[in-house]
Amino acid sequence: MLGLMQDKPLLISSLLEHAERFHPEVEVVSKTVEGTIHRTNWREIGQRARRLAISLEKQGVKKGSVVATLAWNTHRHVELYFAVMGLGAVLHTINPRLSPEHLDYIVNHAEGEILFFDTTFAPIVEKMQERFGHVKRFYAMAAEATLDKIAPKIRDLGSYEALIDNTPADPAFTWPQFDERTASSLCYTSGTTGNPKGVLYSHRSTILHACVGGLPDIMNTSANATILVVVPLFHVNAWGLPYSAAMTGTKLVLPGPHMDGKSMYELLRDERVTLAAGVPTVWQMLFQYVDANSLKPREDLCLKTALVGGSAAPRMMIERFDREFDTFLLHAWGMTEMSPLGVVCQLLPKHQHLPAEQRYDVQMKQGRAVWGVQLKIVDEDNQRLPHDGKARGRLLVSGPWIVDSYFKGEGGKILDEEGFFDTGDVAVIDDDGYITLVDRSKDVIKSGGEWISSIDLENVAVGCPGIAMAAVIGVSHPKWQERPLLVCVKKPGAELDKSTVLSYLEGKIAKWWTPDDVVFIDALPLTATGKIYKLGLRQQFKDYQLPTA
Ligand code: ADP
Repeated sequence: MLGLMQDKPLLISSLLEHAERFHPEVEVVSKTVEGTIHRTNWREIGQRARRLAISLEKQGVKKGSVVATLAWNTHRHVELYFAVMGLGAVLHTINPRLSPEHLDYIVNHAEGEILFFDTTFAPIVEKMQERFGHVKRFYAMAAEATLDKIAPKIRDLGSYEALIDNTPADPAFTWPQFDERTASSLCYTSGTTGNPKGVLYSHRSTILHACVGGLPDIMNTSANATILVVVPLFHVNAWGLPYSAAMTGTKLVLPGPHMDGKSMYELLRDERVTLAAGVPTVWQMLFQYVDANSLKPREDLCLKTALVGGSAAPRMMIERFDREFDTFLLHAWGMTEMSPLGVVCQLLPKHQHLPAEQRYDVQMKQGRAVWGVQLKIVDEDNQRLPHDGKARGRLLVSGPWIVDSYFKGEGGKILDEEGFFDTGDVAVIDDDGYITLVDRSKDVIKSGGEWISSIDLENVAVGCPGIAMAAVIGVSHPKWQERPLLVCVKKPGAELDKSTVLSYLEGKIAKWWTPDDVVFIDALPLTATGKIYKLGLRQQFKDYQLPTA
């Protein structure tokens, strides 16, 4: 027997309608590309998104059309999110840090008809426009009057602001209603191996993810919170924050291209931010700014939570946030294929009164599954392993916001017999359900039949005084197959050599994990999403001769 409740589709437009109606005055603050502070609110975002939608329809955008963006976190990008998806079209958010080959590939693969870009990216568009064959029209996210200065040599160019200015509000406009399984946005994986693959989210998956993302133990979005969204809107829908924030009428603070420590600190302080979300490299820059200027974050800021994911949060980051900022580092794990939320590391009641050091031990774990996500770890024969805090295996996931197949069927069948997707990560799960990520399966170091976690080693190494960043990779070894090489970047002015680093590690790691060598380089290569580019680093050191070899 079916229930007798109304069968209303879960649509993204409903989020904006709600924010506009019930939280009209709540601000959306952006640091613009030009560096000025721009203030708007959910009412205006709603009004402008509707006018934008009307003008996009006039341009021929309809259900299923693909509209691409090359844009930073600003109010305009948020408006595009709601305008495009509200129409039932697909927003393809492009990571501007991808290589030209990958950009070429994904823009053509996605078949975007219109491309919006922030003026920073005008040179990329100018250079690539002839290769973007499907794109009929380009829009610079700027006022019409500035176009000549910004982008003189781009074909079929229009201004974003003119699109809105030239479209009067239509009181009769309502957002179309359609099947909640309709595609809403498209995001490509970074393509560290092979071409990037598209993950096509739906209205249903997005809304369910937003409901869960906003819960108190997860991102705790609220009309009383203020969120600094450092994680880019071009990367997995900024972890779903714009949707959860619209649902609860949360104030958003958007840094534009300004992700340096100084800009972050000023936005946190001046906008009274209570939650900030970003990858660890961003917080490293914030710490460096705090150190260089002897700042007192505890006094200046009211940051309750730093949501950290994308790569492992090192212990020193958890400690510093706690001691110097009075901020809880909320560790989370997920991926593009998971919208991205998978697990979040909240403390349980039994942890609340633990001494700080033991609480940090818990916070180092990636966390426990949020409702909706099922996890399993399996061995080489795909047999389930116990959740005993010891067995380590490949981590597989399933749930209503987890990929079923890649866009246009790339990669073929990607789920196992039980409908689980292989994340490519290796993990341990304890009896409380906390997962600890051992490594990406391709990053784990295979030493004499045993595994060494590059994540664990890096976490300890970045705590060493004088080290700004650290990465550990496996280098081939005649006896052990692979041995760890520690690659470090020193803090400015730090005096440090191999022996100081190795003696720092002593006693903090198992003896046989000790890196066979330590090298210092000026900067670590980063991926398009700001993570350490391990594959590139392995290529760089592929012929490295370990002193022990
Ligand atoms: P990419 O890194 O390829 O741009 P994703 O953002 O989808 O794409 O990356 C997801 C991967 O990032 C995960 O599979 C995992 O390896 C890593 N990751 C995400 N969060 C964490 C975390 N908290 N700790 C360690 N690794 C993480």
